[in-house]
Amino acid sequence: MFDYLIVGAGFAGSVLAERLASDAGKKVLIVDQRAHIGGNAFDHYDDAGVLVHKYGPHIFHTNSREVFDYLSRFTEWRPYQHRVQAWVDGQLLPIPINLDTVNQLYGLRLTSAGLVKYFKRVAEHPAVVRTSEDVIVSKVGRELYEKFFRNYTRKQWDLDPSELDATVTARVPVRTNRDDRYFTDTYQAMPRRGYTRMFERMLSHPNIKVLLNASYREVQHIIPHDEVIYTGPIDEYFAYRFGRLPYRSLQFEFETLNTPLHQPVAVINYPNDNLYTRVTEFKHLTGQEHLKTTLVYEYPRATGDPYYPVQRPENTELYRKYQMLAAQTEGVHFVGRLATYRYYNMDQVVAQALTVYGKLTGQSRREALANPA
Ligand code: FAD
Ligand code: UDP
Repeated sequence: MFDYLIVGAGFAGSVLAERLASDAGKKVLIVDQRAHIGGNAFDHYDDAGVLVHKYGPHIFHTNSREVFDYLSRFTEWRPYQHRVQAWVDGQLLPIPINLDTVNQLYGLRLTSAGLVKYFKRVAEHPAVVRTSEDVIVSKVGRELYEKFFRNYTRKQWDLDPSELDATVTARVPVRTNRDDRYFTDTYQAMPRRGYTRMFERMLSHPNIKVLLNASYREVQHIIPHDEVIYTGPIDEYFAYRFGRLPYRSLQFEFETLNTPLHQPVAVINYPNDNLYTRVTEFKHLTGQEHLKTTLVYEYPRATGDPYYPVQRPENTELYRKYQMLAAQTEGVHFVGRLATYRYYNMDQVVAQALTVYGKLTGQSRREALANPA
């Protein structure tokens, strides 16, 4: 008899399995329909021996010391500051848009103060900043919005930015200095030996059993258990009773080249060209030394594995219906990006899982973390 049946071995499920087993002494079975642990953060060595992320580039960044310290129990880190360039008008330019982006694009020599003035002149003033279009045009004006955001967003989501919540493009800041890092969080690092190794350590507790290639439906009636933690899509759990929640998918195409390094930075975005949105070269992220290099191309898709919740008002409304149902479903706890339909980064999912753990055991977050593995 298991105390908990956990569905999904990504960050949400693995953090809860680890805490429930090693802090609360519970017996846990964690199942995943995939052939591996780690969820979308899973990484592995490809045929050429290059460490790659199977589901696209995963860069760890957080401002939460608690989350960083917690994960540090299971991995050492390689400091890494992420940089991205965008291919726009025949040039590679830093994104997020910064002083160098504008100067290089237009052949100007503006100072930071000059750029502030420039943005002031070109910025639009929507009455309320409601959509992903509003958020960008209100900062950098329509021309830069069109060059860097409009088409990328249409390609990624098959929606115009005006049809998406402001929170989507607001993930990408705008800067008037020369800081060309993608993130400015306090903690930015990659698990030194990869994500999968980190998950293996989280789950290597005698109270945790792992069952792969098994879906919830297949095991729910044959494995005796007390409570359920569900980290898959919430609409699927309820058999799409109110209709399908839209999730955006991607197709990943990997390519190995016979050269040690191919791109100047880890990621190049292609807002206006090609059918893919971006190309990632993993060796920048991992620091691996190897004679070859592997890249991944991301092609947005309407169908396939659910990767991104689509943040717009009608979807939030539909999610709320499922959320109400979830709240009435005793003994089942919904956690993670798919089960709470939130565009969460890894650290946010870890924080959410730790909060849920605290609630399950009636402890504060600090108490819940007191007992190291
Ligand atoms: P998941 O990792 O999706 O895990 C859920 C698991 O549940 C899956 O393994 C699935 O197989 C399993 N499952 C679902 N339904 C069932 C079922 N019925 N039965 C059995 N198993 C089931 N975050 C960052 O912080 N930095 C990044 O750079 C970053 N890059 C990203 C790039 C891409 C392309 C994507 C898609 C996401 C990225 N993320 C990034 C977000 C990150 O992947 C998520 O925040 C995190 O993986 C979510 O963890 P989770 O446990 O909620 O979900
Ligand atoms: N975006 C864009 N152009 C870019 C980068 C991002 O238009 O060069 C928009 C796009 O809508 C994207 C969103 O901003 O989906 C969030 O970008 P982020 O890099 O955070 O996406 P993720 O890594 O989650 O795929």
